[in-house]
This record gives sequence, C-alpha cells and structure tokens, in this order.
Amino acid sequence: AAVGEPLVVVDSVEKYYGDFHALKNINLTVNKGEVVVVIGPSGSGKSTLCRTINRLETITEGEIRIDGKKLPEEGKALAALRADVGMVFQSFNLFAHKTILENVTLGPIKVRKLSKAEAEKQARQLLERVGVGQQADKLPAQLSGGQQQRVAIARALAMKPKVMLFDEPTSALDPEMINEVLDVMVELAKEGMTMIVVTHEMGFARRAADRVVFMADGQIIEDEDPDTFFDHPRSDRAKDFLSKLL
Ligand code: ADP
Ligand code: MG
Repeated sequence: AAVGEPLVVVDSVEKYYGDFHALKNINLTVNKGEVVVVIGPSGSGKSTLCRTINRLETITEGEIRIDGKKLPEEGKALAALRADVGMVFQSFNLFAHKTILENVTLGPIKVRKLSKAEAEKQARQLLERVGVGQQADKLPAQLSGGQQQRVAIARALAMKPKVMLFDEPTSALDPEMINEVLDVMVELAKEGMTMIVVTHEMGFARRAADRVVFMADGQIIEDEDPDTFFDHPRSDRAKDFLSKLL
C-alpha cells in the first residue's frame, strides 16, 4: 500500500485490568494507506490493543492519536473519533431482526445523518462491492458466516472510517469461507484503506501487509515487513510461535 502520514499513533500506552498488566509500553504508528498485521499467542494483548484504539477500553497511561487528534475519554468528541475507526470482530454481531440492508443503513442514518434514500443507495453499493448485493433484503441468519462477515465489513465502511480494525475476522468461519472474506480485505488494502488486522492468516499477511507486528505478554516484540518476519524472525518467541502455527 502507498504509505503517507501517521494516522494512528499509539504512544507509550500502558493498560491494566486491575493488577494485570495487559499492555506494556506499546508504541505503534500506522501511516495512511498502511496495512499492519498484528500476530501473537492467545492472551498477548492483541484484542486489548484494538479495543483501546477504538476506546472500547480506556488506557491506563500514554496517549492514542487518530489523525493528529488525541482520543478523548468520553462525550461527543469521542463518538466522532470513534466513527473514524471501523471495527470488524470475530463474531459478526449483525442485528438478527433487521435485514442486511437495514444493518448497513442504521449507523449512517443515525450518526452521519444521511437520509434513508442516501443511506440505502450507499449501502447497496457497498453490499455489491463485498459480493452480497443479492442478499440485501434477507435476514442475517439466512446468510452464510462468510457472507455475514462481508456484511459486517460493508457496515463498517458505511461509516466512512479513516482506519479499519479487524480482530480475527476469519477465525469463526468455516475454512471454505475464509478466503472470500480475506479477498475483500485484500481489495480494500489495494484501494488504499489504512488497516490494522489481527489475524493468523499468513497468506493474507504476505499478500497485503506492509508490516507484521508480533506481540507476546502485552509487548510488541517485533515490527517487520512480512517476508522478514515469516522467513527470518529475530526473537525466539516469534520462532516458537511460528513453528506452532505451521
Ligand atoms: P489476545 O487478543 O491477544 O488473545 P487479549 O487482549 O484478549 O489477548 O487479552 C490479553 C490479556 O488480558 C489476557 O490475559 C486476558 O485474560 C486479559 N484480559 C482481557 N480482557 C480483560 C478484562 N476485561 N478484564 C481482565 N482481564 C482481561
Ligand atoms: Mg483476541
């Protein structure tokens, strides 16, 4: 991806859950257009990092800036900054009793104040783009997991985020559906979307990532280009992790 100015800056962040030190002096800069894959053992703090960037969790110390603006603790400014960050989780959590189209129009109507007609036009384009245009009037349960996750991506994009965070977006999917979701993400990356992606899909990392960040025990241990990381990991922890992954 073409790389521009810093968009997400995580500056000396510490996060405690009670006495538990979940993030230890995290420093991470993601530039505009950059795709950063975050990888590491279970419990290493990957989800916590995503959640702090989206302020679903508060941080204990340090600072997070999105497009130069410090993330506030609460209030309207937080809502606006949070809208800049699109988030896609492992579980797609679409609204079960709303149609696919409604799932994608809800946020833009409520938060971006689009008219219903504008929101629907945009939603249909986005659903088309992620390959589920035919499913617009169905309910989530009528779609496969892979289709639902692509709807979740369309829903996040409908908010016009500056950066997209993905937290293990394919780990709840049947194997045959993983690629249809990853392909959409690769397309997004090619179009220049700034992305932070927690995933163990090495193929995706090699295809789309500019950098791989390896976390263990709440710390960033390595921050490398994908080929270097996968072919010549420096740390024993990364070597150990990769040998178990293969
Ligand atoms: P990962 O996504 O890398 O698997 P997490 O960020 O989910 O790791 O969790 C990192 C550590 O923080 C784990 O040890 C986890 O048990 C702990 N943790 C996560 N969320 C909470 C919470 N809400 N309260 C207490 N501990 C938590
Ligand atoms: Mg996690």
